[in-house]
Amino acid sequence: MIEKVVIANRGEIALRIQRACRMLGIKTVALHSEADREAKYVRLADESVCIGPARAADSYLNIPAVISAAEVTDAQAIHPGYGFLAENADFAERVENSGFIFIGPRPETIRLMGDKISAIRTMKKAGISCVPGSEGPLDENDSETLKLAARIGYPVLIKATAGGGGKGMRVVRTEAALLNSVVVTRSEAQAAFGNGTVYMEKYLDNPRHVEFQILADKHGNAVHLGERDCSVQRRHQKVVEESPAPGIPEKLRNKIGERCAEACRRIGYEGAGTFEFLYQDGEFYFIEMNTRVQVEHPVTEMVTGVDIVKEQIMIASGEALSFRQKEINLRGHAMECRINAEDPRSFIPSPGRITQYHPPGGPGIRVDSHIYNNYTIPPYYDSMIAKVIAYGETREMAMARMRIALSEMVVDGVKTNIPLHQEIMNDAAFIAGGVNIHFLEKKLSTP
Ligand code: ADP
Repeated sequence: MIEKVVIANRGEIALRIQRACRMLGIKTVALHSEADREAKYVRLADESVCIGPARAADSYLNIPAVISAAEVTDAQAIHPGYGFLAENADFAERVENSGFIFIGPRPETIRLMGDKISAIRTMKKAGISCVPGSEGPLDENDSETLKLAARIGYPVLIKATAGGGGKGMRVVRTEAALLNSVVVTRSEAQAAFGNGTVYMEKYLDNPRHVEFQILADKHGNAVHLGERDCSVQRRHQKVVEESPAPGIPEKLRNKIGERCAEACRRIGYEGAGTFEFLYQDGEFYFIEMNTRVQVEHPVTEMVTGVDIVKEQIMIASGEALSFRQKEINLRGHAMECRINAEDPRSFIPSPGRITQYHPPGGPGIRVDSHIYNNYTIPPYYDSMIAKVIAYGETREMAMARMRIALSEMVVDGVKTNIPLHQEIMNDAAFIAGGVNIHFLEKKLSTP
């Protein structure tokens, strides 16, 4: 049994993991950089270890420092959260080889599903449709690449197999631009992810981003927790998420969800994971899998009542899932707004001291955040400072509660994107439901 967990992350997810550990009576070790020394969750943890200077490469990404922190604190397990080392198979392997439990899937599973090309191959074998595209990496044969794009039809998307966070992809609209785009995406991917392998996909015109949450244990049980719609995006990054996705027929949800669960059983998946799809004209096309907890997991927790982070830890300690698929019922509707410290129009990050903070509250409101009055947002990391989650019996009710929550929320001293979220919550197309991935960028480009 796990008695102490090292939390190898920062910000709201570090606090979220800590809360799950406390529910299970597990002690926590907060790892932090020099810049996060004063963070509230660091003080709330049972122990803390400074693992290096502010720069993520010197602290949160420093594998030997993370592992030795687990050694000196006598912990049994390491939770990587999301981002940083969460999808690094080499890290997971070194954690296991050092005698610790990695709270996540096995390293070979991360390698298989973390690489987009091998994930797509695996899913095709499991009978899941993917976006039409290249059968694997693009090679150096330019005439083959040109022929392939002509066959798929423009626009096409050049994607890095190791890409993430909306980076490492490029839309190509004309044949004249193709070869140069391949070269540029390849070298950007090499620089950003240490892997220059790229592949080609049809660029779908007006898809929605709909993803399925799954949980799988070490005993061959796998369930899905329904889907989330994450179509409200900017630069391929999610801004608002909700569950369930508006207008997905229940039969289709169950069919795709069950196929995802079945894929987990086939590959011996262990832990929480997300299968991401594009949804267009009533069809689902798999794009990638995330082998970790996601930022938007709370909307699923609100409609299913399942504590996903707690389940991750229980699965890692070898316990069997305590529920079956038929016991999972989606009830009501939940929505999440990612609150970032940034200019709501220019999106330039706005770090600094928060002089006043009043979180929203009331029925159906959940706030996952590590900020407080006088907290100084460091300039070194992601600008997300809070997630506001609203639950309601219906989508209208969830949206109404979200509008009230946003109007109550005060974050002074820095700029935030709260005004942008208010605009989205009052947008006629968003209110109607089922907007596609271009909704937000189009809205931002119309004065
Ligand atoms: P990342 O790993 O960087 O998150 P994804 O493969 O999940 O990359 O894609 C991120 C977003 O990019 C999707 O949610 C979608 O908005 C857009 N996208 C990805 N593939 C396609 C495609 N073939 N056609 C249209 N949009 C796409």
